[in-house]
Amino acid sequence: MNGMVRTTAILVALGIAAAAQTPVSSPPMNTIAERYVKLVLALGQHDKDYVDAFYGPPEWKTEAERRKQPLADIGAAADRLLAEIAASTRNESAASSGEAGAAPKGDDLVRLRRDYLKRQLEALRARVRMLEGTKLSFDEESKALYDAVAPTHPDSYFEGLIKELDRALPGDGPVVDRYDAFRRRFIVPADRLSRVFDRAIAECRTRSLPHVQLPPAESFTVEYVKNKPWSGYNWYQGSFRSLIQVNTDLPIYIDRAIDLACHEGYPGHHVYNALLEKHLVRDRGWVEFTVYALFSPQSLIAEGTANYGIEVAFPGEERVAFEREVLFPLAGLDPSQAEAYAKVRALVDRLSYAGNEAARKYLNGESTRTQAVDWLQRYAMMPAASAEQRTRFFDTYRSYVINYNLGKDLVKQYVESRAGGQPQKRWQEFVKLLASPRLPSALR
Ligand SMILES: [Zn+2]
Repeated sequence: MNGMVRTTAILVALGIAAAAQTPVSSPPMNTIAERYVKLVLALGQHDKDYVDAFYGPPEWKTEAERRKQPLADIGAAADRLLAEIAASTRNESAASSGEAGAAPKGDDLVRLRRDYLKRQLEALRARVRMLEGTKLSFDEESKALYDAVAPTHPDSYFEGLIKELDRALPGDGPVVDRYDAFRRRFIVPADRLSRVFDRAIAECRTRSLPHVQLPPAESFTVEYVKNKPWSGYNWYQGSFRSLIQVNTDLPIYIDRAIDLACHEGYPGHHVYNALLEKHLVRDRGWVEFTVYALFSPQSLIAEGTANYGIEVAFPGEERVAFEREVLFPLAGLDPSQAEAYAKVRALVDRLSYAGNEAARKYLNGESTRTQAVDWLQRYAMMPAASAEQRTRFFDTYRSYVINYNLGKDLVKQYVESRAGGQPQKRWQEFVKLLASPRLPSALR
């Protein structure tokens, strides 16, 4: 036993000696994390959508505004930081390459942290290049920024799904028009909107609380806004508070109530941000989580969990039951139509990857805006106005679109491969994922 301890001491000493000879030194991870945050803030000076949330030291933000670091400097600083992370990885593997159990193994979360910082920085590096004029294809971009590539589907794939929808919808004429007409019966009147949303939010919170330990101070505010390229947004403010904005440019259908309440609120973005703040920022002092870089792998996890969270909160038929019994009456809609609407919606949801194809072709320069709008009407069942709003989303957020559907599918696979269909177990795995820095490529 003693012999083993001595071997360990020698190996650790060798590891340290090897590190001293490497050209790049490796500062502690907290120092790397702080420099990462400052680089995200610096890049935010060149890209107004880049910093989605920041609740770290306010003077770091003021400093970034004052300094206005040029893009080339930000890129070079990111390269240096990446080299330092690589050096710290080499040192750690040198230190732990002795007998099993010889060197103290960092906990799983510590390893995830380093992988996460590295990959977030690589995405930052790619975003700098894009802002400097480098043109990436849709798939290259999503790989670089979100650590994932969405599958490609031929037209025939969507045509098959549309045939099913065609059979499910009453009347004659183009499917998209019949879908639009059918759906109009489920618009929430403007004067009932906040009542319906408030009830949906309360329900999602009640369903989440038994499974998620939320900080007692958590809360959020809902605002109704216009003229935005998105339909809803969560602006996390820190201290466990969120501002949720709902865009009322287009009609709001009854299903948006639960979508939005879960996605933006419980157990979606609001819970995700609050758990990261609680477990990683406050409990561990990991400052990198006080900043949220929008065009980064973190977004796939954020959007994927927010979308999958709907199924976690409302397993099986529970969603349609709640809509029928509570939300339809509140909105003044006919509850006897709730099931029929849910069936049609499920068919249309399967067309979500058509949106990726539209974005891919449009952003790769293979289709014009008009063609993208046509495609979205035909294959994604979006009425003209929604399709146009969607192409404006493509202009701003580009390959970000994959984070919603591919993100959801990856999160679903990850959670269900561990939990199966067992609702309680699903919650456990889901919450564990929310509170940890896992990368999209590590979900597979
Ligand atoms: Zn979202």
